[in-house]
Amino acid sequence: MSVRYDVICIGAGSGGLSVALTAVELGLRVLIIDKEESNFGGECLHSGCVPSKALLHASRTNKDFAAAKKYYQSVQVKIFNRENVTSLRKRGIDVVVGNARFEGRNTVSVGDCQYLARKIVIATGSVARKLDVANHGKVPLVTHHDVFEINEPRHLGIIGGGPVGCEMAQAFSNLGIKVTLVERGERLLPRDEIFAGNIITRKLRDNGVTVCLRSELKEIDYGNRMHLYRNSKSKIEEKITESITHLLVAVGSERDFANLDLAAAGIAVNDSGMPVLKNYVYTTNPDVVLVGDAAGGPQFSHTAEEHARALIKNWLMPFIRFNPRLLTVPWVTYTDFEVAKFGLSPDVIKQKFTVWRVIEGDFATDDRAVIDNYSDGQYKIYVAKRLFRERIVGGTVVAPGASEMVQELILAAEQRLPLSSISGKFYAYPTKSQTWQRVLLQDQASRMIKSISKRIITRWFRIKNYTNG
Ligand SMILES: Cc1cc2nc3c(=O)[nH]c(=O)nc-3n(C[C@H](O)[C@H](O)[C@H](O)COP(=O)(O)OP(=O)(O)OC[C@H]3O[C@@H](n4cnc5c(N)ncnc54)[C@H](O)[C@@H]3O)c2cc1C
Repeated sequence: MSVRYDVICIGAGSGGLSVALTAVELGLRVLIIDKEESNFGGECLHSGCVPSKALLHASRTNKDFAAAKKYYQSVQVKIFNRENVTSLRKRGIDVVVGNARFEGRNTVSVGDCQYLARKIVIATGSVARKLDVANHGKVPLVTHHDVFEINEPRHLGIIGGGPVGCEMAQAFSNLGIKVTLVERGERLLPRDEIFAGNIITRKLRDNGVTVCLRSELKEIDYGNRMHLYRNSKSKIEEKITESITHLLVAVGSERDFANLDLAAAGIAVNDSGMPVLKNYVYTTNPDVVLVGDAAGGPQFSHTAEEHARALIKNWLMPFIRFNPRLLTVPWVTYTDFEVAKFGLSPDVIKQKFTVWRVIEGDFATDDRAVIDNYSDGQYKIYVAKRLFRERIVGGTVVAPGASEMVQELILAAEQRLPLSSISGKFYAYPTKSQTWQRVLLQDQASRMIKSISKRIITRWFRIKNYTNG
């Protein structure tokens, strides 16, 4: 006999939990299924956002790895207490632990039990990509799934200069642990603006990290040393590093639907076995949707939340179709300096707008930046014009606390506010965000001065002040 629900979520990570918690608040009958009881909370809690940010936090105040580990584990326990099986049941959600697979278009089974629902959400996340490399030494190869379990690292090798690789390089080097970061591309943070990757490379090197760009791991030798191929000025060189104690492979994640039996639910897949998607999250079975990392696209907890918001609105609202805002997904790499990207990317801006421009610079003339010693931070803000009105449409900020500094730029971009909403705002001095007022006023002034000659302005000022005086 099968049990009937309004919504079943497969996976209790950011995606499954976002849908389940909202649906149950609305009065729907909800079941959430996860493989293991200890997995509730998903990657974000166990091997992603939470331990990485808690490790970074601890690394800024402490110089001891064991103490930092204790700290992030204690943070994980606090959050797990809110997201575990018992607390979800208390909130009215039914919970089943085990491997879910489809038995029909609206039916899922776990072991011998079957569950039926009007809507089924696949929120099964992604798994870390592994690296196939000859490891002649005794170096433990870890991914983000197990890096937070390691003990006594003395020299961490990291393969991959994306956000995960850079954040881990920052945290471990803050703790005084030797780090060698290997990236095969020209720069770190390849999905961000070039200037951001360059600043982070410089900052990590200043922090003692050995950053090897245009480099690939060939093998680990008997002495636990990494042999790297290095492409320098179009000739391949070999570089041998000092021996490492652990190797973190941070080369991205991939989705895996092999055990779900998508065919039983009538879900079409492409040649690589990935579900064919219509309208971002909808599969070819209108009652089954993908949320979070499982949906592909930008892999963040807040993308999973955005999927969930759009989905629930669509389940409830007639006539209007809400799409997740995937073109404007913000993201932050929490290094020192932080890199915060928001709004549309430059490529999309060029396609969408005929009139747009960039306001860019550093923080050398900003008092708060001088006081806090980050005048070498930089920003790029994209402004576009439509119907004679300019507004902020995207940008990147690299500075300490950039993740918070961009929040009002995001608000202005999302709400399509005029530039005067920031240039005319009443800020306390010296706040970090006040810099946007200065930047926009300077921009306004320089554009006015370009369009009207300086001489006319000066003459007018003198006439006016003579008359008044
Ligand atoms: C080191 C690191 C740092 C990160 N930092 C950030 C950050 O700062 N901010 C941010 O927004 N994002 C960050 N991310 C990304 C973020 O962690 C993920 O995007 C997010 O957790 C994905 O959530 P999800 O619900 O899609 O998948 P998951 O959290 O992976 O959840 C999937 C769940 O499905 C379960 N499952 C899988 N198959 C089945 C099945 N057949 N039956 C039952 N259960 C199943 C799994 O056990 C798992 O619990 C980071 C990632 C990493 C690796």
